[in-house]
Amino acid sequence: MNKDVKVDRSQLKLDRRRVDALPRDVLVAELRRVAELLGGRRFSRRDFDRHAIACKGSVVLSHFGSWHAALDSIGVPLKDYRYDRKQITDAQLLNELARVWSGLGHRPSKLEWEASDAAYSYTTYKQRFGGWVNACAVLVSGAIDIKPPAAIEPRPQPSTKPPPEMNRTVPLKLRLRVLTRDKFRCVLCSRTPAINPGTVLHVDHIVPFSGGGPTAESNLRTLCDQCNWGKGADHERAV
Ligand SMILES: [Zn+2]
Repeated sequence: MNKDVKVDRSQLKLDRRRVDALPRDVLVAELRRVAELLGGRRFSRRDFDRHAIACKGSVVLSHFGSWHAALDSIGVPLKDYRYDRKQITDAQLLNELARVWSGLGHRPSKLEWEASDAAYSYTTYKQRFGGWVNACAVLVSGAIDIKPPAAIEPRPQPSTKPPPEMNRTVPLKLRLRVLTRDKFRCVLCSRTPAINPGTVLHVDHIVPFSGGGPTAESNLRTLCDQCNWGKGADHERAV
């Protein structure tokens, strides 16, 4: 045994970048799911950590190199509340504040704001009104009419798509419905990311799509990656 193995210390990195831990399509699917949950707006890594099931934002970040690149991988333009900050009117900001505030039943704290589904960032309010409390005070004062002009509306989508059950890809809403129905557990082995870290759940066609199985809730089930990839080659994977 040669004990004098030369070690090139420059090759030793302190951080463990396990970029191989999850396949890219799983990360992209999870990013898409979170984007859908948040109404198609851009979201931060912190937002992601609050909603993601398959993995942490840190895994996504090390895979894509930057959060911007991760969001780009979704392949759908997201509403960018940071970029459009100057075009948002005071009334729109206050209307959103009023919505979240009345949902909570009390004046939102910074943490509550950031944990909510608010469309605009805490910083936007601080900058616009010279402080968070000021923004709240302006709203309460009634100095600004909070009926916002119809501005930041999602673009209407042309409806020329085939019926969803004829499409192999499971739409995000349906995917979430199946995962929720199955309580985020693999229906074969009961693994769940909450208890078994590293478990990745897939939504699987029971009757394969290639065999005529529709992309419908009744033909879909939740499988963990092990059960999913352990299936015969006649089955397919639908993330
Ligand atoms: Zn399983």
